[in-house]
Amino acid sequence: MNSNPPVYYSSLAPFLELFAQGNPVLTYHKLGPRPRRVRLKGLYVSAGLFRQQLRELQAAGFTSGSLNDCARLLQPRRIVLTFDDGYVNVLRYATEPLAATGFTALQFLPANLLGRCNEWDVALGEAPEPIMDATQVREWLAAGHQIGSHTLDHPYLTRIPLAAAREQIAASRKKLEDRFGVAIEHFCYPYGDWNPAVRDLVAAAGYRTASTTDPGANRPSDSRFALKRFTVRYPTRNWKWVRATVRRLMLGHRL
Ligand SMILES: [Zn+2]
Repeated sequence: MNSNPPVYYSSLAPFLELFAQGNPVLTYHKLGPRPRRVRLKGLYVSAGLFRQQLRELQAAGFTSGSLNDCARLLQPRRIVLTFDDGYVNVLRYATEPLAATGFTALQFLPANLLGRCNEWDVALGEAPEPIMDATQVREWLAAGHQIGSHTLDHPYLTRIPLAAAREQIAASRKKLEDRFGVAIEHFCYPYGDWNPAVRDLVAAAGYRTASTTDPGANRPSDSRFALKRFTVRYPTRNWKWVRATVRRLMLGHRL
C-alpha cells in the first residue's frame, strides 16, 4: 500500500503544527554534491542544507526520538532521522553535523549490496551511488548511530512470491545481525511498497517496527509496522504548495 504521494520536507516552519500532532520521522537518501547524469536530483540534499536543517530542528528544541516510541506514546519535540539505502555519502557528510547537533540517525541497509551500489536504480538508468561496505557500517555504528534492514536486494516486496519476500525480510535481519553483532529491530519497505501480507511477514520475522514512505506524523494508535515518514528533498516545490499539502494532511484528507 502506498496510498499517498510523498510529502517533501525541506524546512521546519510549514511542518511545525503537523509535527505536534504525532511523532515525525524524516527520510533522507543521499547527501552531498550530485554526480552528473543523475535522474532523481531532488534526493540529493546538499551538506549545507542538511546542516541547516539539523540546526533549525535543534533551535526549535527537537532531539532524536526512537522508532520504537513512534507508535507507543506521543513525544513532543522528538524526531527520528532515517536514511534509506546506506550510501557512503551519508557517512561522509552526515557524521560531523549529526555529532555537532547531538542528533543520531538510522541507516536502512540492503544487506546483499554492502560495498556495492544502488543496482536496482542503475538497472533503470540511474547514476550509480556507492553503498557502505562493512568497515564503513562499523564506522557509522561506532559514531553512535543505528542500522536497520532494507531487505537483501531492494525488491518490490508485493511483486515477488511470498516465500521470496519472507527470505528478503528474515534473511536480511540475520545477515546484518551476524555481521555487525547488533540487534536489527527496524525494517523499511523498499519503494514504500507493502501490503498486509508483507507487513505480517515483517512482524513474524521479529522486527519491532517497519517504515513506509506514506506521509504523516505517527500517533500511538497507528501500526508500528506501517510507520509514516516525510521524505526530505532539495526544495523544488514552492512554499504555497507545501503549506497546502500540509494543511490537507492535518485535516486528515488524502493527498
Ligand atoms: Zn530504498
